[in-house]
Amino acid sequence: MGLRRTPAPPRPDDPGPGYVWVVRVETARWRVAGSGRCRALVTKGATCGAPAVAEVDRSLPGRGAQWYGCCAQHMRGRWVRNGDVCCWALEEEATADEQ
Ligand SMILES: [Zn+2]
Repeated sequence: MGLRRTPAPPRPDDPGPGYVWVVRVETARWRVAGSGRCRALVTKGATCGAPAVAEVDRSLPGRGAQWYGCCAQHMRGRWVRNGDVCCWALEEEATADEQ
């Protein structure tokens, strides 16, 4: 079983007026890894090889899933919390009467 928690990266910079950063659980193309190794390329032709904590589906649309392991250092800004893969997502700030 993979890690249940990895450190969250800091909240990104000020998103600008009208937007806020929220934590989103990745459901479509990410999942917590049960086993495997990180497949991130670290040098030409060499992969990281650290134990994977999450997996990303890198398949093309319409193809079967292609799960690639990622260690905590190679999750591209994502992290694991309570068994979910999370990311920062930009959302429009809730306003009462826009549109
Ligand atoms: Zn890695």
